[in-house]
Amino acid sequence: MHILVTGGAGYIGSHVVKQLLEDTDNTVTILDNLSTGHDETIKSLEDIFTDNKRGNRSFNFIQADLADFVNIDKIFSENDFDALIHFAASIVVPESVENPLKYYMNNTVNTTNIINMCVKHGVAKMIFSSTAAVYGDAKEIPVKETTAKAPINPYGWSKLMSEQVITDTCNAHDNFDAVILRYFNVAGADTQNRIGQSFPNATHLIKVAAQTALGSRDKMSLFGEDYETKDGTCERDYIHVDDLASAHLKALVYLEKEDKVSPDIFNVGYGHGFSVAEVINTMKEVSGVDFQVDKEPRRMGDPAILISDNSKTKKVLHWEPKFDDIKLICQTALAWEKSIS
Ligand code: UDP
Repeated sequence: MHILVTGGAGYIGSHVVKQLLEDTDNTVTILDNLSTGHDETIKSLEDIFTDNKRGNRSFNFIQADLADFVNIDKIFSENDFDALIHFAASIVVPESVENPLKYYMNNTVNTTNIINMCVKHGVAKMIFSSTAAVYGDAKEIPVKETTAKAPINPYGWSKLMSEQVITDTCNAHDNFDAVILRYFNVAGADTQNRIGQSFPNATHLIKVAAQTALGSRDKMSLFGEDYETKDGTCERDYIHVDDLASAHLKALVYLEKEDKVSPDIFNVGYGHGFSVAEVINTMKEVSGVDFQVDKEPRRMGDPAILISDNSKTKKVLHWEPKFDDIKLICQTALAWEKSIS
């Protein structure tokens, strides 16, 4: 297959491309505007492609912006894509609260356009990056795919609205199938330290803790100690990026095998969680640095607990995680941070 990966120069996208190049025979084209993705990531992926050369498949990179609808149409006309894996999106919850239109434009509007391109140009398979943020303050823990969806921030809404566009399009078009993956809290990096999360102004907990351990920040904040959780700090289901990536390869096999997927939705997490305080302590332990943590009030838009029920993903996609180890997640995040700082 020829697979188009939008946002393939970014954090999760690059790990999926790495696995596609290492573990499959597919041709891959990355489309990325490099707003948060990186040139160096493309170079690392080119090296991985060279090390894994087989058949006459190719690996291509197109620098383009999804908001440029005319250009996207041209790219679809000039290529014969069989499947789309759509990562390109804005992903920072607090930013989405301050600048919701950025999220509705980059996430919902651009996703709608690229689905339109798939239908117009006969690209029959799509994998979509969704998020546990669609559940908001989840009505049940662990969260099932059928648990009520009630986002509490524009980021979650922008993804849920995209899910609706995908669902309606799958239902209306026989030759358009999709898998929606709802990600829990992704962290860590390639265990060989070739790629990782390079976004400089990251706000995500494990990345921030790694930067603080390495001294590129003097201190970090812990947002909220008065939640109804085991130690008062928020709990999340942290999943290693390579386990999240492998769920995409399984979803691709599923889309190839099934006649009609209209669409099917899967949680991707480990099914258990850690509190913010536990994660910070793990980072202190693996780095050997007792860095400064300031206790701050709750951050806007944060639900208390998000933990997945991943039984459907394991059963239907035959997905088996390999890196369910919070220490390994923190160690690989730290090693990557060291290599880029
Ligand atoms: N968090 C924190 N300090 C930070 C970053 C995050 O205390 O510097 C907390 C945040 O308030 C939330 C949890 O860590 O409770 C996970 O946040 P993150 O931004 O990593 O992921 P999210 O769940 O928002 O997607």
